[in-house]
Amino acid sequence: METISIIDAKNHVDQKVKIGVWLTNKRSSGKIAFLQLRDGSAYFQGVVVKSNVTPETFELAKEVKQETSMYVTGTIHEDSRSHFGYEIEIEAIEIVGVSEDYPITPKEHGTDFLMDHRHLWLRSKKQFANMQIRNEITRATIEFFSQEGFIKFDAPILTGSAPEGTTELFHTEYFDKDAYLSQSGQLYAEAGAMAFGKVYTFGPTFRAEKSKTRRHLIEFWMIEPEMAFMHQEESLEIQERYIAFLVQNVLDHCDYALTLLGRDKELLQGYTKLPYPRISYDEAIQLLQDSGEFDGLEWGADFGSPEETYLANHFSQPVFVVNYPKAIKPFYMKPHATRDDLVVCADLLAPEGYGEIIGGSERATDPDYLEAQIKKAGLNEKDYQWYLDLRRYGSVPHSGFGLGLERMVTWISGEDHIREAIPFPRMLNRIYP
Ligand code: ATP
Ligand code: MG
Ligand code: MG
Ligand code: MG
Repeated sequence: METISIIDAKNHVDQKVKIGVWLTNKRSSGKIAFLQLRDGSAYFQGVVVKSNVTPETFELAKEVKQETSMYVTGTIHEDSRSHFGYEIEIEAIEIVGVSEDYPITPKEHGTDFLMDHRHLWLRSKKQFANMQIRNEITRATIEFFSQEGFIKFDAPILTGSAPEGTTELFHTEYFDKDAYLSQSGQLYAEAGAMAFGKVYTFGPTFRAEKSKTRRHLIEFWMIEPEMAFMHQEESLEIQERYIAFLVQNVLDHCDYALTLLGRDKELLQGYTKLPYPRISYDEAIQLLQDSGEFDGLEWGADFGSPEETYLANHFSQPVFVVNYPKAIKPFYMKPHATRDDLVVCADLLAPEGYGEIIGGSERATDPDYLEAQIKKAGLNEKDYQWYLDLRRYGSVPHSGFGLGLERMVTWISGEDHIREAIPFPRMLNRIYP
C-alpha cells in the first residue's frame, strides 16, 4: 500500500492508500461519519461507514477533534459532488498528534482575531489558495525572465543611502554607521544592467508608510527588471507580456485554487489579451475630469486609489498611464524630449479596483542632469557617486520597472485586502505573529 498526497488521489482511484492528514471539520450520524481532511496539497473528504469498520475506528471518527493529525487508510473513490472530485473511504485511523480545542472554528471570526492567529489561519482553504497562487506567480516569474535572457540579480537589503528620501525608510545601525532597509533594489539593478544587459531583482522591500490602505504593506516583495539598450515602448511590451504570462500560468496551474476562491476564470483569461491600452497622464486627467466624479482634480496631482480604479475600470483591462509630471516622480526618470514638465514613465493599473501594480520608467542618462536632480531632491550627493559612475562609463538608454508581488497576488486571487497575499503580513499596527 502506498502513502500518497491528497492531490495525487486521481491517480489512485479504487486503490487502497495511506495519507497523513489533519482534520478540518467533521459531521456524523449514527451510521456514517464525514471527515474533512487536508494535508497541505488539497482538501477532501473521508467517509467512515460504521458497518465497514471496527467499533473503535467508528468511535474514533466521531470523537476526533479539529486539527488532530493522523494517518488514514482506505480506498479512493470518485466524488463528483465536491470541487476536488475524489474522496477516501476510510478503513483505519491512526492518531499522530491530538489537538487541543482549536481557536478557529467553522463560525465567523473578526479580522483582528484571525490576524492574531495567523500562524493557524494559514491552514484555511482561502489562505491555501492564495499561497498556491503566490507560489505560481513566483515560479512563473523566474521562468519568464529566464526564457527572456535575464539574469536574476539580487540587490542588497541593507543600504547606506536612501534612493527616494528618508521619510518612508526604516533606520538601523550598521556598526558605527547608519543604514536603512531597502525600499527598492532599482539603483543596484541599474548597475546590474550595465554589467549583464538584462537583469531582475526579486526580494523583500520595506516602507515605513503610515498609511492604512487595502494595498500597502510595510514589508513586501518586489520584482524589478532593468534592461540596457532599451527605450520605454519596448519595456512596456515586456511588461504586458510578463503580466499576461503570469495570468496564463495561474490559469493553467492553479485551477483548483481559483475554484476554491470562486474567482471568475473567464475574466482572468481576458487579461491575457494584448496589447493593453496606453493613455498619457494628460489624457488620464481629462478622462477623470470629464467623469465629473473628481471634484477639484487638477493637472499635476498624483493618483490615489479612486483615480486609478476609475481609469482601469474605464478600459476593463490593465491600462498603462504614461508620462507623468516630473514633479511627482523620483529623480532618476528620463526627462521628456519635448515637454519640460514630464518624465518618460508608466504605471500599469489593474482593473477591479486593484490600482497600480507596476511602476516603471526609462532612466535619465545624462550625469549632469541627474546630479542636478539629486541636489533638487535634497539627497546627499556623496551617496550617489557610484550611481553617477554608471553614466560616466558608457551610459546607454535603459529602462526598468517594479512589480509588487502582493499587489499581483491580491488582484489575481480577487482578494479585497493585500494582507491575504503574504504569509505573515507586516502592517501599520501589526508585527505579531
Ligand atoms: P503607490 O502609489 O500605490 O503607493 P508607489 O508608486 O509608491 O505605489 P513604487 O515605488 O512605484 O510604488 O513601487 C513599485 C511597485 O511596488 C508598485 O507598483 C506596487 O506594485 C508595489 N508597492 C509599492 N508600495 C507598496 C506597498 N506599500 N505594499 C505593497 N506593494 C507596494
Ligand atoms: Mg507609495
Ligand atoms: Mg504610485
Ligand atoms: Mg509607482
